[in-house]
Amino acid sequence: MVKAIVGGNWGDEGKGKMTDMLAADSDIVVRFQGGANAGHTIVNDKGKFALHLLPSGVCYDHVTNVIGHGVALDLDRFFAEYDELLGRGIHPKIIVSDRAQLMMPYHVRFDVLEEERLGKNSFGSTKSGIAPFYADKYQKIGFQVCELFEPDRLMKRLADICEYKSLILKAVYQQPPLDPKEIFDHLMRHAQRLRPMVCDTARFLNSAVAEGKTILMEGQLGALRDVDHGIYPFTTSSSPLAGFSTVGAGISPCSISNVITVVKAYSSCVGAGAFVCELDGEQAHLLREAGHEYGVTTGRPRRVGWFDAVATRYGCMAQGTTDVALTLVDVLSYLEKIPVVTGYEVEGKVITDFPCTPVLDRCKPVIEVLDGWNCDIMGITEWEKLPKNCRRYIEFIEKALGYPVTYVSTGPAREHIIYR
Ligand code: GDP
Repeated sequence: MVKAIVGGNWGDEGKGKMTDMLAADSDIVVRFQGGANAGHTIVNDKGKFALHLLPSGVCYDHVTNVIGHGVALDLDRFFAEYDELLGRGIHPKIIVSDRAQLMMPYHVRFDVLEEERLGKNSFGSTKSGIAPFYADKYQKIGFQVCELFEPDRLMKRLADICEYKSLILKAVYQQPPLDPKEIFDHLMRHAQRLRPMVCDTARFLNSAVAEGKTILMEGQLGALRDVDHGIYPFTTSSSPLAGFSTVGAGISPCSISNVITVVKAYSSCVGAGAFVCELDGEQAHLLREAGHEYGVTTGRPRRVGWFDAVATRYGCMAQGTTDVALTLVDVLSYLEKIPVVTGYEVEGKVITDFPCTPVLDRCKPVIEVLDGWNCDIMGITEWEKLPKNCRRYIEFIEKALGYPVTYVSTGPAREHIIYR
């Protein structure tokens, strides 16, 4: 059985918590896209972990964690995270696709240089090299993991590609050229350590599907950051959609039985781009503090807003949702009244379908106000024990989305969950 756990918003919905929780009864957790540019926080009996590149099943001995073909593999970041786990007494089972591509040191450098060049028009990149990485991948000047074990071939391609990259470095950024030998040596330092983890992960996963194993596909970011469906160009450079997970992992598109879309009970957003529900001033401050809305990777304060039914319904549709996991509901306990965005006003009309970017930039939120519950609900595990207004809030969201809210998360820990 294959379940995708993916984001319905702009990211940071609590996918890590849901994956960690569902991994208890799963055999395999797969990362299928993205790199170390976003963080998942998991809190369990072994402590608190901020994962960036490693799948969220790493804390379980029985789970095999897979870095699939679609991932941007930064070997420095990968081993730093791996070593941190080892240092904390966790020995994760990890396999890495031979077809995953390598994040090169110059990808990170290009990301930094380009954001600097753009100045106030920058994209708010996490500067992890993601955009230059995927640009190279699709320009077919990337490097697959398998090439690490063909040193002559690797060195030859590196020399050619560094020559091209150096021309850009000089002409656009007035920077010194790349030294292919230095990059080669850097990669070789990691290659032997990586080697025992590398295999044809698609074959492994296809066998696992055939054997009826339970597999979680762990999406990064959220639907509104998808390169095709999201708020382009303020998207990521890959697809964090459940539909893409089968491509990035290499299994049949028919194999997914559940798409669990993780949706936040309010909104948050890191980086630039239209965010119609955005709050500022005191309201934003209170919500940001209540939800500890600071980026896991960057520490940046996240932009925050009320729940946005227009954006989230669209995000759930893009994901092909079968179940919604509504998270961080407890964060709203401080409010007596809870505003919700139910429509967008643009050019004198109210719309309820999420528009494309140029229109989005002109939209203003249409707000409905619901009664809050104004008491602590952290850690409640039974639906009936939630205050009546809290149940009403969740039912309102369920109706606005048109997808069943199957899980309600009432705190950061694994056991803070209601299964409806
Ligand atoms: P991800 O990238 O989607 O995994 O999300 P993040 O890890 O960036 O953000 C989710 C944050 O909320 C983490 O710090 C989680 O530990 C925490 N979290 C997840 N679910 C809940 C919840 O229901 N309530 C509270 N209070 N915190 C939660």
